[in-house]
Amino acid sequence: METNKIIDMAESNLIHTYNRYQIVFDHGNGVHLYDNDGKEYLDFCAGIAVFALGYNNKKYNDAIKAQVDKIVHTSNYYYSEPMALAAAKLVKASGLDKVFFTNSGTEAIEGAIKLAKKYAYLKDGSTDHEIIAMNHSFHGRSMGALSVTGNKKYQEAFGPLIPGIKFADYNDLDSVKALINDKTCAILFETVQGEGGIFPATKEFITEVRKICDEKGILLILDEIQCGMGRTGSMFAYQQYGVTPDIMTCAKALGCGIPVGAFVAKADVAKALVPGDHGTTYGGNPLATQAVSTVFDIFEEENILENVKEVGKYLEEQLELLAKEYDSVKERRGMGLMQGLELNIPVGDVVKKAMDAGLILISASQNVIRFVPPLIITKEDVDKMIVILKECLQ
Ligand SMILES: *Cc1c(COP(=O)(O)O)cnc(C)c1O
Repeated sequence: METNKIIDMAESNLIHTYNRYQIVFDHGNGVHLYDNDGKEYLDFCAGIAVFALGYNNKKYNDAIKAQVDKIVHTSNYYYSEPMALAAAKLVKASGLDKVFFTNSGTEAIEGAIKLAKKYAYLKDGSTDHEIIAMNHSFHGRSMGALSVTGNKKYQEAFGPLIPGIKFADYNDLDSVKALINDKTCAILFETVQGEGGIFPATKEFITEVRKICDEKGILLILDEIQCGMGRTGSMFAYQQYGVTPDIMTCAKALGCGIPVGAFVAKADVAKALVPGDHGTTYGGNPLATQAVSTVFDIFEEENILENVKEVGKYLEEQLELLAKEYDSVKERRGMGLMQGLELNIPVGDVVKKAMDAGLILISASQNVIRFVPPLIITKEDVDKMIVILKECLQ
């Protein structure tokens, strides 16, 4: 179909929840995407930090295709080999003990909230526990996940949200302490804030919150949906801080495009959920968990973490130079291949110009360009990106 026909058909039939770019993507290869008219784009978005392995990875594609020919879905009444393998690999990679597979990041957050509440309920029998979340956070759009998303713009029209959620300032320990009381059952934040503008947690903040949680019997929930799965140079970002959460949420790159998420917990926390407490029809089905299992294998075989460390450092250096050179750039923030440039000029214009020049960028918050490329990106790709970005900043 012609590009404008596809766009017209989509617009006339879809609920208008996105202002989409006028591009129809057709296929991808490595770090490149190709639109319906054959134009090539260098991709620094990766489907919003999802497609870590690059497009058209043969091993990934073959594993998915083989699984489709065997079985796609059976429900959670039964076991499957991919489910067992994926859970074991996620447990090993996370340093946690027990996994529940979901279909999205949002659902992983929902599950984490329910687990924290049930754990606290079993301790004291009360049903009015509170959760402390952070301003400028993002955890998803369902009623529960929206309730812990510290962004009034997203929440406003949808009240009443779930009660008992309080918001502290990220990286501000005193603001967290001020909200803690006997009802606090969990403190939830992203190890690196993504949508909020690429803010890594400070070492002090995360270490001190962990300490407070230990002292007071509060659960620490870290949202690794965007910053996890190797993006910052370790499998999960918290591993670079020497801190382990009680519950961790994961999605985006977990299945590299097959919709799958998970919440993962320490054993003594996880056992609060018993049969009947939580469930999902699709969650962890053989196709989704085959994707997860294969993703972990490819991470090892292709030394993905090594590449993130090396190219992430290079990207960071190049963006630092850019920030020094251009008045329109306020600062660089980020870890590994999760970087942000805060601008003094409208970000939308820069992203649009880049798009026209064949470079896919995305924004975060109001004024930040977000760089979340496929994790197989090379230094040469970074160089190419910088050349185009400089033109767009002129
Ligand atoms: C994307 C994201 C979510 C929501 O995940 P979905 O798969 O879109 O439901 C939650 N938390 C963070 C940090 C995210 O980046």
